Amino acid sequence: MLVKLHQDGQKTDHFTVPFDERPSKVRLEQSEEELVLDWNSTVDDSGNLKACIVCTGELFRENTFPQITGFVIVLAFAGGVAGLLGLVTTWPMLIAMVVLLLIDVTILVLRFTRLVCYKCGTRYCKLPIAPYHQKWDPDRSEQVQRSR
Ligand SMILES: [Zn+2]
Repeated sequence: MLVKLHQDGQKTDHFTVPFDERPSKVRLEQSEEELVLDWNSTVDDSGNLKACIVCTGELFRENTFPQITGFVIVLAFAGGVAGLLGLVTTWPMLIAMVVLLLIDVTILVLRFTRLVCYKCGTRYCKLPIAPYHQKWDPDRSEQVQRSR
């Protein structure tokens, strides 16, 4: 599992931890500081992560897309409209549409879900995600921020 530490919305450091081994300490990759992890109350009965191992805070699920997605959607839309109007009749346009489709498929493949901590903003990638994790909830977030 890849863990990215955040502070005030900025990524500060990261480390990789073998989920099955659950080491009590890890060494951060950039600052080389040691970080103590809490596995006791943060893993559920099925062995899935249920809370933040850094601060035991609540987690929410987040879908990530590569940055290019918005741009591609606009292009695909423009291409679709052009096609409907009968403007896509030339080979270069057709090739452009195919390339666009390939980019779209690549994005779908690269898309992944990660868990994020409400409290400290730590992000958890490359791990099995239990189905009970909810999407980001503004009310919940506010509640957590207030109780800090
Ligand atoms: Zn946390």
